[in-house]
Amino acid sequence: MELSQQLSAFKETHQYRSLKEIDRKDGGHVQYQGKDFISFTSNDYLGIASNKGLQEAFLKENQSDFFSFGSASSRLLEGHSSICTKLENTIASAYGKQACLWMNSGYHANIGLMSSLPQKGDLILSDKLNHASIVDGLKLAKAQFERFRHLDYDHLERLLKKHRDNFNKVFIVSEALFSMDGDCCDVKKLVALKQKYNCHLIIDEAHSVGAFGENGLGLCEAEGKIENIDVIVAPCGKALGAVGAFVVLSAEWKEYLINTCRSFIYTTALPPINTAWLLFTWKKIQKAGSLRSQLEDNTNYFIQKAKESGIDTVSTTYIQPIIIGDNKDCLALAEALNQEGIIVSAIRYPTVPKGTARLRLSITSNHTKKEIDKVLDMINHYKKSETHADTLVK
Ligand code: PMP
Repeated sequence: MELSQQLSAFKETHQYRSLKEIDRKDGGHVQYQGKDFISFTSNDYLGIASNKGLQEAFLKENQSDFFSFGSASSRLLEGHSSICTKLENTIASAYGKQACLWMNSGYHANIGLMSSLPQKGDLILSDKLNHASIVDGLKLAKAQFERFRHLDYDHLERLLKKHRDNFNKVFIVSEALFSMDGDCCDVKKLVALKQKYNCHLIIDEAHSVGAFGENGLGLCEAEGKIENIDVIVAPCGKALGAVGAFVVLSAEWKEYLINTCRSFIYTTALPPINTAWLLFTWKKIQKAGSLRSQLEDNTNYFIQKAKESGIDTVSTTYIQPIIIGDNKDCLALAEALNQEGIIVSAIRYPTVPKGTARLRLSITSNHTKKEIDKVLDMINHYKKSETHADTLVK
């Protein structure tokens, strides 16, 4: 099919996507074309990325240092800055792991890991709802892969029983907090299975690092299982308020990635200024217990209010999907909320399975209770008053 026909088909099936320019945002609020909106679309769960006070403190603290705004080569080509060494050492020791590898993004990290670490003769078992970057990595992998039903560890165990003896190494891969469903993997069960079947466990903490655990290390910290996880991938563009991703792992696996991981080798490194900013936010995050409590408080408030107003909530975290089902209805509801000054993402196939289009609300520590009331009231209002998408948007 011609590209133009495909684009038309996207429009007909309400899968079409377009970009929009914003004036400013602060992890819970955005301004578009001079108009203010409450936003439930940001992954800046703790409001770090847009915190002016932190930005000023960063610039003041780092005034005497020279951090370039471009890195000019891949890390292997010309080397990396001392701030990069400091970041990797600081993070490895925070996790009590041998090593940390700082990479350009979570996407780079996941496609690189999946395609580099597991070898021919190995097997990767991946949760069916794992992020696209893991799925794309699986497609590039030298190892065979199979997907187990989402959070269905009986299914995972059946696969392990069936396949374990036929493969050299077996890697189990799961997100910690699933980005589109807001549910969490059961770290303890995964560790138990990994130990029972002598496998390796890779956990992607994209949406949980910073916001879970006493020191913000993520869900594995909250579950007391960091030492049992072989690889933790932590994309830094969400609660950490930065960019890039770090991977904590053994020294040997780091060395292997440096030598073979194409998404690490063949890309220009992130500029030192970004590395310095992450190191700065990382130190703040460790001590950000009050922001985490605020986020938890907002989440509990949202869940309680949603229940009271008869809105189905299936998640217990700050990622709250409200399943609508049909693409058109979901878009219409998002558009109706938009008219009321509220931005909520309408998540559709292929990001989520067909027929499960949803509003995805991400709650942040910056939201006020009043704003949470407003979005829930509006969702309730539109869900109750109009069921047909054509009449929802006036
Ligand atoms: N893993 C998960 C679970 C994600 O949600 C994302 C980003 N949405 C990524 C990896 C990719 O991270 P990045 O944005 O740093 O490429």
